[in-house]
Amino acid sequence: SGRAEARTLAGPPAAAELLARAAALAATLPVTPSIAFIRVGDDPASESYVRGKAKKAVELGLHSHVYALPDDTTQADLHALIGTLNADNGVHGVLLQLPLPAHLNADAALACLDPRKDVDGLHPVSAGLLWQGQPGLRPCTPAGVMALLDHYRLPVAGQHAVIVGRSALVGRPLAGLLLNADATVTVAHRATPDLGTVTRRADLLIVAAGHAHLITPDMVRPGATVIDVGINRVPTEGGKARLTGDVHPDVAGVAGALTPVPGGVGPMTVAQLMMNTVQAAQNQTAQVQATQNQTGQNQVGQP
Ligand code: NAD
Repeated sequence: SGRAEARTLAGPPAAAELLARAAALAATLPVTPSIAFIRVGDDPASESYVRGKAKKAVELGLHSHVYALPDDTTQADLHALIGTLNADNGVHGVLLQLPLPAHLNADAALACLDPRKDVDGLHPVSAGLLWQGQPGLRPCTPAGVMALLDHYRLPVAGQHAVIVGRSALVGRPLAGLLLNADATVTVAHRATPDLGTVTRRADLLIVAAGHAHLITPDMVRPGATVIDVGINRVPTEGGKARLTGDVHPDVAGVAGALTPVPGGVGPMTVAQLMMNTVQAAQNQTAQVQATQNQTGQNQVGQP
């Protein structure tokens, strides 16, 4: 008799819980949270990602506006639009869809964002706050992974978490979130020799390498929880592309729990963006109210 298959950690129910929490928080606010998307050029994947995120925002009752800039947009044009959105009190979140065309500098553009509106959590201030363990806006995919673990009541504190990948978008911020949640964290990457020796130590293995089926069953400790962040497009015989993860499907015979691709981490990313937008709106309206209260107190001359 073989081992039982790993428990499937489906994204949609966990995403639904996160979206319901975002909607409940939005309902307590004096304003409708509003997000602006900036997309440059005509990369079909970026276009489809932005369409999906904007659609979800509207479904949730948030305000959403998409700025689709032409491929020949200059760095100055981009910074000017970000500056306008920073100054607009009616906009609570600004998302710059990456990648940008090669002639544009994404880091410079991200640094122009008002950190209070940085709903993708990629501004250097957001990254610093995360690393210092202070409150702030967190990158959506790593925060979505934490929400998924929470939804399925999977333990994090005291667990040995191994992350494969060290990008600013996924691996690095995930290391910060897991440390803040009291995991013991190892980060492996392209230059790690004998990856299997490292991944076999994981109670919690999170893979964000962008390499289809990098993780095979021999690289996983029996019973480990495995989170597959990878989204790889592999061609099929029919000439169409199929989506597959960084984890080989046979890992289901070894792991205790495993996220599917698609339908695992992907929906969490979008749901977390909605939560970040609502939280950004909450922070900005709380600041406005604090300023008004101060003014009010001064007017009545209280201490
Ligand atoms: P990236 O290319 O920026 O970073 C990949 C990281 O993996 C690098 O740090 C690299 O050192 C490491 N790596 C690559 N090959 C490796 C190997 N053979 N062994 C060990 N380490 C290796 O990619 P990214 O932006 O972090 O994205 C990673 C994957 O996650 C991609 O497939 C991407 O499409 C996917 N992704 C999914 C979501 C989602 O919503 N589910 C969001 C973002 C990214």
